[in-house]
Amino acid sequence: VRKIKIGIVGYGNLGRGVESAIAQNDDLTIVGVFTRRAPDQLQLLNTDIPIIPYDDILQYKEKVDVLILCGGSKDDLPKQGPNLAAHFNTVDSFDTHAKIPEYFEAVDASAKPNGKTAVISVGWDPGLFSLNRLFGEAILPEGATYTFWGKGLSQGHSDAVRRIEGVKGAVQYTIPVEEAVDKVRSGKLPELTTREKHTRECYVVLEEGAVAKTVEQAIKTMPDYFADYDTTVHFITEDELSRNHSAMPHGGFVIRSGKTGESNNQVMEYSLKLESNPEFTSSVLVAYARAAYRLNERGDTGAKTVFDIAPGLLSPKSPSALRKEIL
Ligand code: NDP
Repeated sequence: VRKIKIGIVGYGNLGRGVESAIAQNDDLTIVGVFTRRAPDQLQLLNTDIPIIPYDDILQYKEKVDVLILCGGSKDDLPKQGPNLAAHFNTVDSFDTHAKIPEYFEAVDASAKPNGKTAVISVGWDPGLFSLNRLFGEAILPEGATYTFWGKGLSQGHSDAVRRIEGVKGAVQYTIPVEEAVDKVRSGKLPELTTREKHTRECYVVLEEGAVAKTVEQAIKTMPDYFADYDTTVHFITEDELSRNHSAMPHGGFVIRSGKTGESNNQVMEYSLKLESNPEFTSSVLVAYARAAYRLNERGDTGAKTVFDIAPGLLSPKSPSALRKEIL
């Protein structure tokens, strides 16, 4: 059978994750990695895969079935997403929740008139968590949905700490508060404040001469990022930072708690424990690339989210095999 031909756009954490995820899927093959950097700056896992300048990407229109966009949500995807969806089927992991509606419109306006299919905001949140929030609301209309994140490394919060004067290096972990999770699981439908749901923990390496107390104060009072949370700050050495804090774990839970009938409690829970956030996110992107290809083959074009895609399209197995094996 003919393999689905994938192009990887951008080679950061997700780009590398997509490369290794595709190696686990026999029905997919990589045409090349497209990058804005000089090819000799990239170290691919498989050195046989071509590294191609981003500016040459349109020459690959007929050679690629689906592009997996692995750029950052802040600066890369808002431009690359709409530009590339005019020429290719695409999948991306755009995760700026507040801007998803406008991003969807921009990508749709570009994909639809050109007969392309563009799946946006795929991953675990947004992505698999979004699906589970939808299941919860649709199945238990009388109830509440709770999302807890962590324990996990937050890139955005780590960056915010690194920008503080006197900080040489830092990571930030988001941690769900156990009592809050237990209360939710018990079906009590608690009302929880931001502070009651998560705590934040920072591991910081100071510049020489920087004052620990001042840095700690700057972190704990930072609006939007830390002020609404209980935050613990640990000062460590550069060596400890690279030795103990280089992995990118994450995960969390989506819990829907509701009542049916007279007063029966029903609790639905979906949980992820990820040793590598980017490798997992990439694995989700790869499954959705298969769906994007199939949707386009049947003429279903324009922008899509996980809500628009039938789950069977993610599997390499045929609908009849799925009915027989796992229904
Ligand atoms: P990275 O910062 O590792 O990579 C982003 C881009 O930066 C790359 O595609 C690459 O493009 C460019 N880049 C420039 N210089 C370098 C360098 N020295 N090393 C590596 N990359 C470089 O981001 P991630 O891959 O970790 O994440 C991408 C996005 O995925 C995030 O912005 C986040 O929004 C989203 N995400 C979504 C999730 C979800 O659940 N929906 C979960 C996790 C992440 P180029 O090769 O062209 O230079």
